[in-house]
Amino acid sequence: LRGVVAMDGPSGTGKSTVSRRLASSCGAAYLDTGAMYRAATLAVLRAGLDADAPSDEVASAATHGVQESGTDPSAPTITLDGEDISAEIRGPEVTALVSAVSALPEVRNTMVARQHALIEEAVRDGGGIVVEGRDIGTVVVPDAPLKVYLTASPAVRAARRGRQDARAGRTSNLHVTLADVERRDRLDSSRRISPLYAAADALVLDTDDLSADAVLDRLRALVAE
Ligand code: C5P
Repeated sequence: LRGVVAMDGPSGTGKSTVSRRLASSCGAAYLDTGAMYRAATLAVLRAGLDADAPSDEVASAATHGVQESGTDPSAPTITLDGEDISAEIRGPEVTALVSAVSALPEVRNTMVARQHALIEEAVRDGGGIVVEGRDIGTVVVPDAPLKVYLTASPAVRAARRGRQDARAGRTSNLHVTLADVERRDRLDSSRRISPLYAAADALVLDTDDLSADAVLDRLRALVAE
């Protein structure tokens, strides 16, 4: 795989699983931009701030920590000030606050600049990278040769999130997870800066009745073209 594959869509569509597997099977790098917004949100929480704090203080706390994102699809890592925070960023405190933090223009500008640097490094000398997020095909890499937008109904996505939580040893309740999925959809789709939507030239795949294997087969065929 050469260049960038942009993978967008809301949470619970199987985006992470498919993106990682696609990158692995094509010898490409992988970048999870959601993890970057989650790490920024953890920095906000660690600064003792919450959703009611003034937005300039939130933005400053979110962007000051030293974040490092590994781009190896077989072992994606993210650190904050040298500490591995991959598990902590999936917890309920971060999930509850991340949409508010990622709606701040200063936070997005900083993260997008970091994403551009990581992507440039990966594609230098003819390499490839699968980048997943909400605004990759629309804002971060609008000229990506392959853009994919995964969707699924909220109920299916909440059930997938629930299974993911169970695998990670986190207890969760389906009603709460569904409410969270719908709340984040609303916030991510309605924010003024970089709202979530499918780029006009994205391949839109509804994964309600498609397994990860089936989606992967379609994408691998497209990459090989
Ligand atoms: O993909 P994940 O669920 O980990 O993303 C967490 C949150 O980060 C999303 O709900 C969204 O608010 C934000 N996000 C974003 N732009 C991206 C990736 C994630 O705003 N490119």
